[in-house]
Amino acid sequence: MGIGEWPRSVVVVGAGIVGLSTAWFLQERGVKVDVVDRGGVAAGASWGNAGWIAPGLAIPLNEPSVLRYGLRSLLSPSAPLHVPASLDPGLWAFLARFAANCRWPSWTRAVRANLPLNEDSVEAYEVLAASGVAAPVEQAPITAAFRTPRQAEGLLRELRRLAEAGQHVEHTVLDRLAEHVPLASGALRTGVRIDGQRYVDPGGFVHALGRAVMSRGATVYAFEVDDVRTDGKKVIVLSRKGTTLSADAVVLATGAWLPRLARRWGVRTQVRAGRGYSFTVPVDRPVPGPIYLPDVRVACTPYQGGLRVAGTMEFRGPDDPLVPARMEAVIASARPLLDGVRWDERTDAWVGPRPVTPDGRPLVGATKAPGIYVAGGHGMWGLAHGPATGRLLAEQITTGKQPAELRDFDPLR
Ligand SMILES: Cc1cc2nc3c(=O)[nH]c(=O)nc-3n(C[C@H](O)[C@H](O)[C@H](O)COP(=O)(O)OP(=O)(O)OC[C@H]3O[C@@H](n4cnc5c(N)ncnc54)[C@H](O)[C@@H]3O)c2cc1C
Repeated sequence: MGIGEWPRSVVVVGAGIVGLSTAWFLQERGVKVDVVDRGGVAAGASWGNAGWIAPGLAIPLNEPSVLRYGLRSLLSPSAPLHVPASLDPGLWAFLARFAANCRWPSWTRAVRANLPLNEDSVEAYEVLAASGVAAPVEQAPITAAFRTPRQAEGLLRELRRLAEAGQHVEHTVLDRLAEHVPLASGALRTGVRIDGQRYVDPGGFVHALGRAVMSRGATVYAFEVDDVRTDGKKVIVLSRKGTTLSADAVVLATGAWLPRLARRWGVRTQVRAGRGYSFTVPVDRPVPGPIYLPDVRVACTPYQGGLRVAGTMEFRGPDDPLVPARMEAVIASARPLLDGVRWDERTDAWVGPRPVTPDGRPLVGATKAPGIYVAGGHGMWGLAHGPATGRLLAEQITTGKQPAELRDFDPLR
C-alpha cells in the first residue's frame, strides 16, 4: 500500500458484534475482508448478553454511585458488582483508574462522547437488517420496575442528568405496573417505561451478520491470533502454530482480550473483563418486552419463547470458569421480584466478559502503527454500539480521516 492509498484488504480479528460490524461496513466500501476468531462467530460477550439496543439506557458505568456499590461488593459476594478478594496488581491499577473516573465530569464526558453511537445505534441495526442480515430486530419499550416510588427516583434522576448532557430519553412513570409487566410480583409497585428501544437475540443476530459477511466474500478463520506485525506496507497476523494471514490493514476487535494484542501498538488504556452471567427460564405469563430490575441490576429479555435473565458484574479473567455462586446470586436477587418464572428449569447457563474501560469510553481508531486499528472496550453497551462503531471505523480506514464522532475514543489517549 503506497502513501495516499487506502487499504484494499483488511483482516478483522474477533468475530463478535464489533468485529463483524466493522467487516460488514468495510465490505460496503469495497474492501476485501477476512475475519479470524479463535472460537468462531459470537464466541465472546456477543452471545449470551441481554440483547438490548437501548440508547435510552446506555449509561456509562463510571457513575459516582458505582463507588458505593464497589465498596459494598468487597464485603458481600452476592452484591451485583463483585471484585474477588485475590486481586492481581493490574486489576488494582485498573480499579484505581476506574474509581478516579467515577466523577460527574468524567461521566458527563463519556455520555457526550457516546451520544453519536447512541443516536445511530437503532438506525445502524436497521441498515444491517434491511441489507441482508436475516435476523429480527424487535421494537418494544423497556420497563424498569421498582419496589417503591423512591427507588424509581434514582433512575429518573439519572435520566434527567442524561438529558442535561444532551441525551433525551422518552419515558413514562407507570403506576399500574402489572398491566405492563405481567411477570411482576407483588413486591414491585412502580415502573418507568423507556420508549423507542429495540432488542435482538444477540447470538442469532451476530451469527446472521457473520453469514452476511461470508456471503459477501469473507472467510472466517478459526485460530487464535498470537501476534500482529507490520513491515510498513503489509500487516501480518500470526497464530502460534505458524498460520499467517496478510492484508493492507488489520482491525483488532477482540473485546475483553484487546490489550494482549493492542498494547504494543501504543494502546495504554486498560480493558478489563466485567463478567456477566445469563441463563434462560420458561415463564407462565406473557413477556411483552424487556424488564429491567435496577435495584438488583438484572436485565430480562424475551428469548426463544422464555426469558433470558442477565446480570452481575464480576472482575475476573475473561477465560476463568463460570462461578455457580454468582449465578445463584442473580437468581436469589430476582426471584422475589418476578412471579411465573420457572427458575429451576433454567438452561443456557453462560458467563461472558464485558470489555470495560476505566473512563466509560471505548477504544476505536488507529494505533501508532500504520494499518493497525482497534475497536473495542464498549463495556455494558457493545451490542447496541457495535454496528454504529463499525460504520464509523470503516469510514476512517477507507478515507484516512478520523470522523469527529471518534475523536473522544482515540485508542492512543
Ligand atoms: C450479561 C451481559 C449482558 C449484556 N447486555 C447487553 C445489552 O443488553 N446491550 C448491549 O449493548 N450490550 C450488552 N452487553 C455488553 C456486550 O455483550 C459487549 O459489550 C459486546 O458483546 C462486546 O462485543 P465485542 O465484539 O467487542 O467483543 P466479543 O463479543 O467478546 O468478541 C471478541 C471476540 O474476539 C475473539 N478473540 C479474542 N482474542 C482473540 C485472539 N487472540 N485471536 C482470535 N480471536 C480472539 C473472542 O473469541 C471473541 O469472539 C452485555 C454483556 C454481558 C456480559
